[in-house]
Amino acid sequence: MSPDDPLKAYREKRDFERTPEPSGGEVRRRPGPAFVIQKHRASTLHYDFRIEVDGVLKSWAVPKGPSTNPRDKRLAIPTEDHPLDYADFEGTIPEGEYGGGTVMVWDIGSYRNLKTEDGREVPMAETIARGHVTVALEGSKLKGGYALIRTGKSDNARWLLVKMDDEAAEPGLDVVAALPHSALTGRGLDEIASGDSG
Ligand code: MN
Repeated sequence: MSPDDPLKAYREKRDFERTPEPSGGEVRRRPGPAFVIQKHRASTLHYDFRIEVDGVLKSWAVPKGPSTNPRDKRLAIPTEDHPLDYADFEGTIPEGEYGGGTVMVWDIGSYRNLKTEDGREVPMAETIARGHVTVALEGSKLKGGYALIRTGKSDNARWLLVKMDDEAAEPGLDVVAALPHSALTGRGLDEIASGDSG
């Protein structure tokens, strides 16, 4: 493991003898960079928004989950990079382990980087470093443009996840309430927690 291994923080937080989460060994390729939103019932319910950038899933915890209303600004707290094969992890992390609770793949798909400058795409890593990310999501639930914007200047700055005002915007829809089940298996959190394979 190199000292600048981007998954060092991820691995240090977990005991892979105890959690069913992937340790980041294998990489499954998909067409286009992956995006996933995992509904995670841990000490509190939240949604983990992850996008594939340079071989890892850059991650933010979104307490209220995404919105399809461009007027909503959803707090998004950066968390450690996750391995690519985490994208289709759905299951139960034992109590007492890091993130102990139930994980659902709430939405999954690919995304496109929308940030261009002088007609050229700005690399995703640079858009994150600048604190202004714009992507078009192609998920089974979420579609179209989303922006992730850092507010403030410190390393502990807050980010906001905002739906861009495009044809996929649906201001009247409470998307996390309307579509509560897994995009992969159709299961609810309780079915995943009880180990029901659906
Ligand atoms: Mn989480």
